[in-house]
Amino acid sequence: MLLEAPSHLSPSSVNLFRDCPQKFKLSYIDKIKVPSTWHTVLGSFVHKVLECLYQASPNDRTQETLKKIASDLWSNHGWSAQVEGLIEKHGTDLDFKQSAFEALTNLWSLEDPVVTNIEGQEIEIIASVDGVVMKGYIDRISLDTDGSIVISDYKTGKVPNPKFKSEDDKWFQLLAYALMLRESQQKLASTLELFYLSKKIKHSISVTDKNLEIAQRTIVSTRASIDESCKSGEFLCKVTKLCDWCHFKKVNVCPAHNGSFIEALRTRNE
Ligand code: SF4
Repeated sequence: MLLEAPSHLSPSSVNLFRDCPQKFKLSYIDKIKVPSTWHTVLGSFVHKVLECLYQASPNDRTQETLKKIASDLWSNHGWSAQVEGLIEKHGTDLDFKQSAFEALTNLWSLEDPVVTNIEGQEIEIIASVDGVVMKGYIDRISLDTDGSIVISDYKTGKVPNPKFKSEDDKWFQLLAYALMLRESQQKLASTLELFYLSKKIKHSISVTDKNLEIAQRTIVSTRASIDESCKSGEFLCKVTKLCDWCHFKKVNVCPAHNGSFIEALRTRNE
């Protein structure tokens, strides 16, 4: 069964295929929407507030400004309604606001927003990595005191357990962005940073030719596997404990968990 392969990939779609090829197929080929969850909305809200904070002039990047931005976004820009509309809530609106506020104010323990030299935020980037078209948005680029480029991302979840996630996997997304920046704009990033805001922890690594090469190989081999799966129509179901959190299991469309909806739909249309 020949399926149409996506014209381009992103660091997150590459990650998704590597996590579970079937999950990639259901998301990017069958295009089944995954509803927002408490955790995804929390992460997006924190990203948005910090994006606005870093649009303010350096001396205005205070916790007072942060409170005003968060409260305006919450009440006037649809965030309260998004939380209200969640299918599964992990608490009240107040619980959501408290979790967000704690993560946001932890930023001051990890860096001084007044002296952070922001170069750009939510930057769209399109690049050809060894012939593979990659698109995505870099959350944040800043410049270090010596002018070198730092790519950062904010996380509101746990720090990954090294038993279950290798360092290469943990850094893949940001390494892919560093690679895309080099390939499309000939700019070399020197450092990558992950802010685990809820835990008040920052991890950083230096960008090296070696780790960029690992990311490059990952992108090229994943593209080849996706094309192969689209030709054969076979997408492996990687069944793990994490399936219990997968939307496709919940809505009964994953073939590994008796899902028959998609196959039934396809048979009917053939
Ligand atoms: S339920 Fe498991 S096997 Fe099925 S798509 Fe989700 S992660 Fe993959």
